[in-house]
Amino acid sequence: QMDGNAELAEISSQMFNEVLLRRRMDIEFHLRKALKLQEFKLVYQPVVEIHTSRVVGLECLLRWNNRHLGHVPPTEFIAIAEESGLIHEIGKWVLREACTQNQKWQKAGLPPMFVAVNLSRKQFNDCRLSLTIAEILEETGLEPKYLELEITESLSVDARLASDTLGELKKLGVRIAMDDFGTGYSSLGYLRDFPIDKMKIDKSFIKDLQNQTVNAVIVNTMITMAKHLNLLVVAEGVETEEELQALRAYGCRFVQGYYYSKPVEVQHIEEMLVHLI
Ligand code: C2E
Ligand code: MG
Ligand code: MG
Ligand code: MG
Repeated sequence: QMDGNAELAEISSQMFNEVLLRRRMDIEFHLRKALKLQEFKLVYQPVVEIHTSRVVGLECLLRWNNRHLGHVPPTEFIAIAEESGLIHEIGKWVLREACTQNQKWQKAGLPPMFVAVNLSRKQFNDCRLSLTIAEILEETGLEPKYLELEITESLSVDARLASDTLGELKKLGVRIAMDDFGTGYSSLGYLRDFPIDKMKIDKSFIKDLQNQTVNAVIVNTMITMAKHLNLLVVAEGVETEEELQALRAYGCRFVQGYYYSKPVEVQHIEEMLVHLI
């Protein structure tokens, strides 16, 4: 009886792995053609200054809708784009699209806002990254101060390379934000070693900020530390009034999350800005 169960478990685990592998292959196959077929679009989520309720920037988030697979979330396809090397072309498209769009908004007379672009670890390890970004800024005419690059803590083991690349990017005049802060393995080392401008507190810390929870202590301490290090600080994933009030009390200046707005499609941005301000 026991052997039978073990055998069954073994078979179902094999089937499970095959399904996963199949899905991965399907995604990679369709991902290869996604740029050409114009299947990507960007949505934008506002970053709001708490004490003025002003939208100071927009983070762009990639969306992929494929004819066969339907909507595939970035948490699923970005990893596959990285492993297959497709992330370089996709990442360039995102950068160019976001800069072009921000320049359009400014030309249309919207209040000046930065656009934040997520960079993958792989893009960051590319030694031509700063050149590519300089070219995109030149092409689109966007002032560097209106571009922010979000990097994660799982960056690169090669600290020297990372440091050089960051130095070049800083020279261009763009801002560097550390995304998902607190979830990586060497958060504090990154703050010490790299020229970071902004800390984005990961959304997993923003739950249950009331009543002296562990999260409350951690978030409060992160904000204090950011201030002492002269870093801008944003709390991600703010969903409720209570969370906002707690963050305000801790002296957090910027927030992002469903409380103010979900990520919005380009054609609804102006409408959203009017309602928010
Ligand atoms: P991220 O950069 O940390 O982006 C924030 C994620 O949290 C987004 O998920 C956003 O939709 C979600 N979010 C925002 N506010 C709230 C909230 O109040 N509550 C909750 N529960 N979630 C909230 P999304 O769009 O699914 O993106 C997931 C991740 O995929 C991003 O995390 C980022 O790491 C990656 N990603 C997205 N677009 C790109 C891209 O263009 N390039 C690269 N390399 N990565 C990307
Ligand atoms: Mg981000
Ligand atoms: Mg994040
Ligand atoms: Mg993330």
